[in-house]
Amino acid sequence: MGVTLVLATSVVLQLVAAILALRLTLITHAGRAWMLISAAVFLMVIRRSVTLLRLIFEHSDPAPDLVAELVALGSSVLMVVGIAWIAPLFLSMNQHRKKVEESEERYRTVADYTYDWEYWIGTDGNYLYISPACQRITGYTVEEFQADPDLIHAITHTEDRESLARHTSQEIEHEEVLSLTYRIFTREGQLRWIEHKCQPVYGKDGCYSGRRANNRDVTDRKLVEEERDRLIAKLEAQNTELERFTYTVSHDLKSPLVSIQGFVGILQQDLERGEPERVKDDLARISNATGKMDHLLRKLLELARVGRLVNPSENVPLEALARETIELIAGQAEKYGVQIEISADLPVVFGDRLRLREVMQNLLENAIKYMGDQPQPRIEIGSRREGNETICYVRDNGIGIEPCYHEKVFGVFERLDSTREGSGLGLALVKRILDAHGGRIWVESDGSGHGSTFCFSISTKDADISSS
Ligand code: ADP
Repeated sequence: MGVTLVLATSVVLQLVAAILALRLTLITHAGRAWMLISAAVFLMVIRRSVTLLRLIFEHSDPAPDLVAELVALGSSVLMVVGIAWIAPLFLSMNQHRKKVEESEERYRTVADYTYDWEYWIGTDGNYLYISPACQRITGYTVEEFQADPDLIHAITHTEDRESLARHTSQEIEHEEVLSLTYRIFTREGQLRWIEHKCQPVYGKDGCYSGRRANNRDVTDRKLVEEERDRLIAKLEAQNTELERFTYTVSHDLKSPLVSIQGFVGILQQDLERGEPERVKDDLARISNATGKMDHLLRKLLELARVGRLVNPSENVPLEALARETIELIAGQAEKYGVQIEISADLPVVFGDRLRLREVMQNLLENAIKYMGDQPQPRIEIGSRREGNETICYVRDNGIGIEPCYHEKVFGVFERLDSTREGSGLGLALVKRILDAHGGRIWVESDGSGHGSTFCFSISTKDADISSS
């Protein structure tokens, strides 16, 4: 009876142990191991059950040894306690792993969804992490950067490679945040400005574990800054020009005013003396000075308007424009016996037709006016190609201009020859018209007696015209 009870208790305990082991297959990651343990315990249950059934139904002889069965009972008890004890341990490990996984998921989401291109480079120079934003900014994938730690240098603009290399070599030594702005070319060949900031990172143990970097695409900001600097420079240049202009204008307008004042005084004296002939002469001089002032003021007004008022731009064949202008000045050309030639292949320029005719007219009139005593006066209207630019020119074999005056002649009221009629505003006007068209003008001349060539470049394709 005692052995039967011991055997029955052993069977029950081993069954409990087998069921507990089976349950652990579900809650631990070592499922197969617990399955094997559970199967082994089940086999022990079967063995014990067979012995128990034989004892009950066949009264097996000899009866199982009580001591051996008590030892087996003891081991069954230990097995149940052991398995029951280990279960909570696995449960808490499970919960801990889940928490770690959730936390890892959260940090990865934060890192992977950063708008900037983030990375962490280890002490061996290899990437420990790169955020997928690198593809948005560079066109290259995380895998490509990871496979080639030098890719970042390879895509850097050649002019910035040295500073990037210098920065990289400094990184290890520096505790503080370092920054650098450099340019890269994307996979599609687009230029991008990168604002880079990096700092060292340390593990929990305080050991240096590489550098964390943030790369921000600041291309749009750079373009705005460049445009702002360009506008400031333009504004400064305009301001300087305006100051010079105001000074020259007030100075040149003063001389007819001084004449008028002087002759008003003389007129008064002549009236008092009763000399009508002299009074007439004084009035003529006053009228002449006011006429001069009127002419200057009109020209100044025209000059001030030129930069702003622009008629709609169009394609203007320069040859047709030259012929049209020659018609207008035919009288003067004939008077001085000037021969005007137009070269073939003149370009079609893009701009304000009326303004461009003013340019041509001013240059041709000057060429005739400053021909000097040239026995065979000749003017040539032509063009030449320089790189991507088409240069148009008006060349004469007149008196020429000394190199030191090549810039000066385009200034307001700048005149080199006061024996001829003129206001000193013609070339300033021409320069402003070309400025407004985004073009430029200059003069080429070997000096006195060598003739002058006035060259100008202007857009030959449809393009916007500055209305500043
Ligand atoms: P203006 O002809 O009314 O004096 P411009 O502004 O047209 O004023 O020209 C400025 C100066 O440049 C002229 O006074 C002249 O001395 C010089 N110049 C202009 N065109 C020529 C030219 N084709 N050959 C020589 N000198 C020239």
